[in-house]
Amino acid sequence: MKTEFCKIGALAQGRAPDASDAEILDRAAAILRSGGLVAFPTETVYGLGANALDAEAAKKIYAAKGRPSDNPLIIHIADVADADKYCYTNELYRELAARFLPGPLTVILKKRDVIPLTVTGGLDTVAVRLPSDPTARELIRRAGIPIAAPSANRSGKPSPTKAEHVLEDMDGRIEMIIDGGECKIGLESTIVSISDGHLNLLRPGGITVEMLEEVCPVSIDKAVTEKLSDGERPLAPGMKYRHYAPDTKVVLLDGSDAEVADYIKRNAPNGKIGLILSDNDAHLAAGTDAKLLTFGDSDIDEAHSLFALLREVDRLGCDVIYARLPDKQGIGLAVYNRILKAAGYEILRLG
Ligand code: AMP
Ligand code: MG
Repeated sequence: MKTEFCKIGALAQGRAPDASDAEILDRAAAILRSGGLVAFPTETVYGLGANALDAEAAKKIYAAKGRPSDNPLIIHIADVADADKYCYTNELYRELAARFLPGPLTVILKKRDVIPLTVTGGLDTVAVRLPSDPTARELIRRAGIPIAAPSANRSGKPSPTKAEHVLEDMDGRIEMIIDGGECKIGLESTIVSISDGHLNLLRPGGITVEMLEEVCPVSIDKAVTEKLSDGERPLAPGMKYRHYAPDTKVVLLDGSDAEVADYIKRNAPNGKIGLILSDNDAHLAAGTDAKLLTFGDSDIDEAHSLFALLREVDRLGCDVIYARLPDKQGIGLAVYNRILKAAGYEILRLG
C-alpha cells in the first residue's frame, strides 16, 4: 500500500482551514468512512484512526500496529454531547466535560451496542475522548463518524509526537498520514474510569490529578506507579504491555544533584553511557564524555520531548542510558509513569 503524506497548513497554525487543508481533510474523511486508516495529529500524540462503528476497519488498526486484540481503542468524538450516542454518560461525565473538554482527558463508560466489541477489546465499556487539536476536531467533524484511534506507533515503540515518527513506523501500512506539526503536550491523554460515578485514574496525562481533584475525589490505580506482579490485571489493559522501551537499557537515578553527578563521574569511564537530563541538570555531566540528550527546564518540557528522545536513544550507540527520576507533582506523574516503563521499572537509589 502507498502511504500518502499530507501537510496541513493554516489550520495547524491556528487559522481557519484554507482550500488545501479542506481538500486533505475531506479526502481523509472519505478514507475513514470507507474503512481505511488515517494517522492524524492531536494535542497529545498522533493517533491512528479508523471508523469506530466498523469492526473490520478497527481490525486493520490492530494489524497495522501489531497490537494485541485485547488492548482496547479510544474513540474520538466531535462534540461533548456525541458521547451519549456511544455510551451511557452520567453526571460526573458532564462535570468533567464542562471543565476539561475538549482536551487531553479520556473517560471510560458503559458502552452502547453500536460500538463493536472489536473496538473495546471485548469489554462492555468504551473509552471516549474529545480532542482539542483543531486538525483532529475538523477531521472528526467532516468524517461524521466516531474515530477509533490508539497512538500511531508500532506496538512497543514510543508514541509518535511528530508526523515523521508515524512515517517511520507506518509507511506502507496505512492510507494516509496528516502532518500537523509537533504535538503540543507530547504524552497520551489522562484516562479515567467513571462508569460507576466515582473517578479512578488509570493513566496519568495532561489533565493532572490536582486538576481532577478540583472536581471530585480521585483514586489512583496501582498500575500507574508500580509494576504489577504476575497474574495481577490492570484496569486499562494497555498498561500491562511493555511500552516505550528502547533496545538500550534505561536506568532511573534517584538522588540529589551531588549524588547524581558523582554517579555519572564514576560510571562514565566504564563504557559508553548516555544521559537524558534537563538543561538545568546538564552540568552534572561536566568533565565526562557521556552522551547527552536534553529536554529544556521544566516537567512540561520533559513531557513534550520524552518520546522523541526515547526514539533517539538507540541511535546513540550507548551501553546504558540514565535519566533522573521525575517528581510526581502535576504532569510529573505522567512523565514518571511513562519513563518508569521505558526503564522496565529499574530505579537506582543513590542516597
Ligand atoms: P493508546 O490509544 O495507545 O493510548 O491506548 C489506549 C489506552 O486506553 C490503552 O492503555 C487501553 O488499555 C486504554 N483503554 C481503552 N479502552 C478502555 C476501556 N474500555 N477500559 C479500560 N482501558 C481502556
Ligand atoms: Mg499507545
